[in-house]
Amino acid sequence: MRNVAGDSFSEPVMVQAVINNNYDLEKALNFLFLQNETSSPKNPASIPSRMKVAEKRLEMDADFRASLVPKIAKMTVSGKQTLGFETPSKSNDVKNEVASSSQKSNHVEDLNIPAKEADSTHTVSKQSSPETSEEMVVRANTTPSKPSGKGRQTLDIKAELEKRQGGKQLINLVVIGHVDAGKSTLMGHLLFLLGNVNKRVMHRYEQESKKAGKASFAYAWVLDETGEERERGVTIDVGMTKFETQTKVVSLMDAPGHKDFIPNMITGAAQADVAVLVVNVTTGEFEAGFEAGGQTREHALLVRSLGVTQLAVAMNKMDTVDWSQDRFDSIAAKIGQFLKQAGFKDSEVAYIPTSGLSGENLITSSTEGQLTAWYNGPCLLEQIDVFKSPNRSIDKPYRLCVSDVFKEQGSGFCVSGKIEAGYMQLGDRLLVMPANEICVVKVISLHDEAQDWAAAGDHVTLTVTGMDITKVTTGSVLCAMNSPVKVCTRLLARILLFNIDVPVTKGFPLLLHYQTVSEPAMIKHLVGIVNKSNGEIVKRKPKCLLKGQNAIVELQTQRPICIELYKDFRELGRFMLRYGGLTVAAGVVTEIK
Ligand code: GDP
Repeated sequence: MRNVAGDSFSEPVMVQAVINNNYDLEKALNFLFLQNETSSPKNPASIPSRMKVAEKRLEMDADFRASLVPKIAKMTVSGKQTLGFETPSKSNDVKNEVASSSQKSNHVEDLNIPAKEADSTHTVSKQSSPETSEEMVVRANTTPSKPSGKGRQTLDIKAELEKRQGGKQLINLVVIGHVDAGKSTLMGHLLFLLGNVNKRVMHRYEQESKKAGKASFAYAWVLDETGEERERGVTIDVGMTKFETQTKVVSLMDAPGHKDFIPNMITGAAQADVAVLVVNVTTGEFEAGFEAGGQTREHALLVRSLGVTQLAVAMNKMDTVDWSQDRFDSIAAKIGQFLKQAGFKDSEVAYIPTSGLSGENLITSSTEGQLTAWYNGPCLLEQIDVFKSPNRSIDKPYRLCVSDVFKEQGSGFCVSGKIEAGYMQLGDRLLVMPANEICVVKVISLHDEAQDWAAAGDHVTLTVTGMDITKVTTGSVLCAMNSPVKVCTRLLARILLFNIDVPVTKGFPLLLHYQTVSEPAMIKHLVGIVNKSNGEIVKRKPKCLLKGQNAIVELQTQRPICIELYKDFRELGRFMLRYGGLTVAAGVVTEIK
């Protein structure tokens, strides 16, 4: 109240107002200002008017939100519309009100600066700037007037990449694990320790979560942003944010752990290079998360089949077992055995004892005596730092898999997704498949910063014009005009069946998942069972396939999908098959019909 009202009222008056208004601070403030206005109407300038107070509150709110961890995109699978900039769901009225009431936000239009500079104003990062998120929106909507399509300058993309990252490599990290394993708490705390969340915000989260009776969720709130998630205490969308280690720029995706949300998780995992698997070591809880029905196994299988080979296993909540080495060793052995079967190499998996709640062993080595007595390995951040960055396919034709489409004010609309191959520049004309439409790129935004170009590995939000928004959806692929992505409804694939209790026969209905796509499909033909080690067909036209078998099958999808041969584009040529809510197989595309 003091922050809002300044010194307008004495302490006892405020206290009384709070008591009279049943401890509702908002009401108490309104009451005080109303009373003040009616008691001294002749001198309105000397007291903050209600309007001003409302503005002030808005400003504070906006200021508060601006200091949140920047998130560039929420990948939505359900078709829910999201804003590119993580503005809270305030009505447009409020935005307009702020825009018109805040002089600062008119700044860009007032200053008659060249378009290029206007662009760069818009790039100011939320973290380093005190400007409000509403202002970000206003600025973001100032359509840059950079000429499009004219003379694409040749770009030494490798040198540019090197320059942009200041020698740091880019890596996309997904956090997976059973619900309640502590994924959000762990990563939220890590971001806080790295200074990516400001202290005031963290304090507010602590207060809010305490008030909601969920004090232990304060760190998780850094990543779980929507009200619905907070209420349920689970992460639904795949939020995204970034942090840096000594040698890497890390794009972090916090994947949901709840069973219902697996399709969302696939969207996140499909874009990841490496993963942190969070395991709850608490007695009884590890068993629940790992045995049948738990998501630990399924998540690990999923990321592996999506191409992730490097894994850090955060053995979390070690504080609940007194940092016991025995517990650590026995769980690591069980998980290790399983991960090996799932196709992870021992040398690419590291086990790190952590406590997301206390922050132990996250960004610095632990000083906890019970742990240091037996552990002197890396902390989580050090492990992430030693992950190898994957080779980016920047020499290949351009491909971007769309994970979200949304409309903002101004011309055109926005698509976001990860560039899987090639690179692009402002003003490029791109082909959108399967719609077979052409769009022009007006703005390239990477981590909320406008760029002139972007390359494979980058998660970008593009503002495009020249085509209808209804023609592009999650799963569409933006590609180079002279080398379109393949589009088909029938394909041959080599698949590996995981755990499936029913035999897979001709006509079997499945969901085909890859990248951001989830498409109903069926097995059209069982071509043959394959020998796992040499790839030879050992039995042609089998009647059915059983768990653990490797086979060539022909798949038919309901609608045309954008896909590639695995040998041409690994990222776009591998997929998963789901049935009855479970992932039953992983596969690679060998022929497009
Ligand atoms: P998620 O569903 O995997 O994202 O899990 P959350 O981060 O929401 O955490 C679930 C619960 O576990 C919350 O009550 C956390 O406070 C608690 N928790 C998370 N990490 C730790 C930890 O290291 N130690 C303890 N004791 N509790 C933790």
